[in-house]
Amino acid sequence: MLGLMQDRPLLISSILEHAARNHGGAKIVSARPNGSLVRHTWPQVAARAAQLAHALTARGVKQGERIATLAWNEHRHLEVYYGVSSMGAVLHTVNPRLFPDQIAFILKDAADTHLFVDPTLMKGAEALADHLPGSLRTIVVMGTEAEIPDPCPLRGRFEVVAQESLIAGQPGHFDWPELDERSASSLCYTSGTTGDPKGVLYSHRSTVIHGISVLQKDVFNIGAEDVVMPVVPMFHVNGWGIPYAAAMAGASLVMPGPKLDPASLHRLFEEEGVTFSAGVPTIWTALLQWLRADPSRRFRHPPRLVVGGTALPTPINAGFLKEYGINIRHAWGMTELSPLGTANARLPQNADWDADRFLDYARKQGRALFGIELRVRDGEGKEIPHDGVAFGELEVRGPWVAKQYFNRPGDPAFTGDGWFRTGDVVTVDELGCIEIVDRAKDVIKSGGEWISSITLENLILGHPAVAQAAVIGIHHSKWDERPLLLIVPKPGTSPTPQDILGYYEGKVAKWWIPDQVEFVDSLPLTATGKLWKADLKRTYRDRSAG
Ligand code: ADP
Repeated sequence: MLGLMQDRPLLISSILEHAARNHGGAKIVSARPNGSLVRHTWPQVAARAAQLAHALTARGVKQGERIATLAWNEHRHLEVYYGVSSMGAVLHTVNPRLFPDQIAFILKDAADTHLFVDPTLMKGAEALADHLPGSLRTIVVMGTEAEIPDPCPLRGRFEVVAQESLIAGQPGHFDWPELDERSASSLCYTSGTTGDPKGVLYSHRSTVIHGISVLQKDVFNIGAEDVVMPVVPMFHVNGWGIPYAAAMAGASLVMPGPKLDPASLHRLFEEEGVTFSAGVPTIWTALLQWLRADPSRRFRHPPRLVVGGTALPTPINAGFLKEYGINIRHAWGMTELSPLGTANARLPQNADWDADRFLDYARKQGRALFGIELRVRDGEGKEIPHDGVAFGELEVRGPWVAKQYFNRPGDPAFTGDGWFRTGDVVTVDELGCIEIVDRAKDVIKSGGEWISSITLENLILGHPAVAQAAVIGIHHSKWDERPLLLIVPKPGTSPTPQDILGYYEGKVAKWWIPDQVEFVDSLPLTATGKLWKADLKRTYRDRSAG
């Protein structure tokens, strides 16, 4: 027997209409590169998104057509987010920090017809001119006519138009189509640290359900009173769902533009009264260092912060909590999960823990959000015990998890029985909390046993002379692989290998301790700011540990 409830589709247009209808009082603030602020409201965002949809419809853009953006977190990007998906076209956000050949690959794979480009990124787009796909018709500069570079080498090959001219004179209301909720809404590529980037094609349904889920108390905990600042870029997996979640809640939204330095962010936190923000550890690390440099730098109202994307170093978390009263919540996700999968919120079982125990536990990535199922299997396919010690590869399924990649059917990341293999190696403890101990491809296989490169990295970051660390496996004739430790020393220090390796004594099993240490000036990072281990492994390909 079927239920007798209305079957209204879950659509992105309904998120925007809800915010515009019910939350006209919230502010939408967008920082320009020069620091000046543009202010709108949800009804204005809705009107400008409608104008954009009319303009694109007039140019023949059809449902399902891919529309790319190379843009920062700013109001015109938000308008493209909503206008494009709501009309039934597909928003394709591209990370401007990727290598040019990756961007060219992605645009070609998606067969985008329009490319929206922030004026500050036009030079990059011009450099790509010879590699832009044949499908591309129009480049929209996200500003006024005056912001189109003169001369503009892309003109002639493509139509080049300013976003303000495009929408000028268009009606501020659009009768959004009642789409099938399973229709594609947006497209985002993995950063391709191993091999070509892979596209994940989200649906209206997956986006709406993910957005509702991240609002929960134990995830982002956002309500209408909040002033939300996504520092995580809107080109990075739907800005972790914040552009949608904020509108659902009717919260205010502060978009920091291209300038993510600590002083610029702190100003927005203070002047706009930001209550919630989310970003990767590098952002919060830089902010903490900047705050500490001058005791007068404080927060009048400490915001709640969420961190994800890579592991959160405990000293950063401890610094924020003990010195500034700021709680950082650790979350885990990935492109294939829209992106949120787990968050590390408190439980009644740990109510009596002191601050240090909480801080130590906060390094874990958290428990599954409702809707996400986790399965962890060892190398033989057996599910591991939930004891916080055994580890295996994490698999997930749920209504906002990809079931295949765009243009790439049959990828082995998707199992025959409907799970997605994350490539993350995790432990699960008695409370169901996962901790990532490595990427499957980075774990060091020493004599048939696994050594977690991430555990070794995190531990050595506690050494007073270590600024950055990486551990990779190098060849060993007897053990197959052994760990090599790469260290960027803190300025003004000159630690010795004995000094560094001695730090591990008593903290890990003897056979985990790396055999060699190498001191380097810097470590390579991917376009999303993560340690680029594939590059390091290439560099040390011929190194042997014995
Ligand atoms: P890519 O895999 O291309 O870097 P994603 O942005 O999808 O792109 O990254 C997902 C991966 O990032 C995860 O599989 C995991 O390895 C890592 N990651 C994400 N969040 C965390 C976290 N909180 N702690 C540790 N690693 C994380």
